[in-house]
Amino acid sequence: MKNLYYDVVIAGCGVAGLYAALNLPEEMNILMLSKKDLESCDSMLAQGGICVLRDESDYDSYFEDTMRAGHYENRKESVDIMIRSSRDVINDLLNFGVRFAKNPDGSLAYTREGAHSRPRICFHEDITGKEITTTLLSHVKKCSNVTILEYTTMTDILVDGGKCTGMAAETKEGETLHIHADNTIMATGGIGGLYEHSTNFPILTGDACRIAKEHGVELEHMDYVQIHPTCLYSKKPGRSFLISESARGEGAVLLNHKGERFVNELLPRDVVTKAIQEEMKKEGVEYEWISFAHVPKEIILKHFPHIYEKCLEEGYDLLKEPAPIVPAQHYFMGGVHVNRDSATTMPNLYAVGETSCNGVHGKNRLASNSLLESLVFAKRAAVKIQNEEKGNEDHEFESNYHAACC
Ligand SMILES: Cc1cc2nc3c(=O)[nH]c(=O)nc-3n(C[C@H](O)[C@H](O)[C@H](O)COP(=O)(O)OP(=O)(O)OC[C@H]3O[C@@H](n4cnc5c(N)ncnc54)[C@H](O)[C@@H]3O)c2cc1C
Repeated sequence: MKNLYYDVVIAGCGVAGLYAALNLPEEMNILMLSKKDLESCDSMLAQGGICVLRDESDYDSYFEDTMRAGHYENRKESVDIMIRSSRDVINDLLNFGVRFAKNPDGSLAYTREGAHSRPRICFHEDITGKEITTTLLSHVKKCSNVTILEYTTMTDILVDGGKCTGMAAETKEGETLHIHADNTIMATGGIGGLYEHSTNFPILTGDACRIAKEHGVELEHMDYVQIHPTCLYSKKPGRSFLISESARGEGAVLLNHKGERFVNELLPRDVVTKAIQEEMKKEGVEYEWISFAHVPKEIILKHFPHIYEKCLEEGYDLLKEPAPIVPAQHYFMGGVHVNRDSATTMPNLYAVGETSCNGVHGKNRLASNSLLESLVFAKRAAVKIQNEEKGNEDHEFESNYHAACC
């Protein structure tokens, strides 16, 4: 067993972990763990995009869309924080060098997804997550205060006197590490690896939730699991390939085996999923179809090049024919309960990203809200840690944060 000493230890190198690290002061020594290689995180897979508050006139509509999709079970305060902080996060990403699609006049181009009343989603082709994650990663790698250990798994947290004092981890070689740290951040992503059919990486098995439960740290809504309506149907084993909701936002429609539409494709995910499952049952089939017949060719090739290529690989040319789709596990709305600053119920232990539950998504996540939520609340954790270290009062933290973000 080896002892290591850091100011902050972060389990997880997806957008949540990376952005938390980038928002911590450079005087802090930070250790980041990744269960496998750095590519294997869901952040790399996000296709559709990331929401932003376009302007003040969109606030009520964005708020209502998020609440309606979440069946009004969302924590309103968290929704407000996320929406109000969105422009700052997008500007930050642009400053880091993320290449969002732009209009000819240089302004940001917005796409639309299901259950959004208007286009408000920034995107980079159909690989927005990869664009954001690789950009953040390149900046983290330049930080001399951050060390990344790949193939190293958090197995437990260290607790002393009711406070978290770090985490235990296991390396690829089987060596046990005790990483002692003033603050610990769990950013271990979703739970899709526990399912037979999921769009997630199989390594994402909700480790933070298990560890939290074992230590009596509060969990929330562990049964709120989102099933994505449109994954490419395939008999091949492995991760389900997603056909982004923004495809439907751009005009792709769902068809049954008689070639008929059976649902409004822009309804929230859980409603569309249910309609597909019922139609499959009625027809006694294993999949239904998605047709791009009404999506202009240039949009298919420019906005969805990777989806087009993947379908072609599987034998479906979206320019000429529909592709078979089936719902699969996709996202986890529940998780380790956190407050508005991503603090768990155990002192010095934070949770950010998909593994946490700050209540933003309620019972069902609105499309393209999760990258944004991960980034907004990861930054809040970083700012909170920084202020706690400096001994700042909470009210001071609030005003600093708003000055920086809004
Ligand atoms: C196919 C797909 C498409 C999506 N499209 C969109 C979209 O268009 N817009 C949107 O907003 N959201 C989208 N999402 C959701 C979004 O990508 C995720 O919710 C978000 O990226 C989660 O980020 P994260 O940092 O919490 O987790 P991840 O990016 O999954 O990172 C988890 C990290 O934790 C590490 N880890 C796990 N367990 C341990 C452990 N025990 N010890 C150490 N490390 C561990 C992993 O190695 C990994 O580095 C999509 C998701 C998928 C799967």
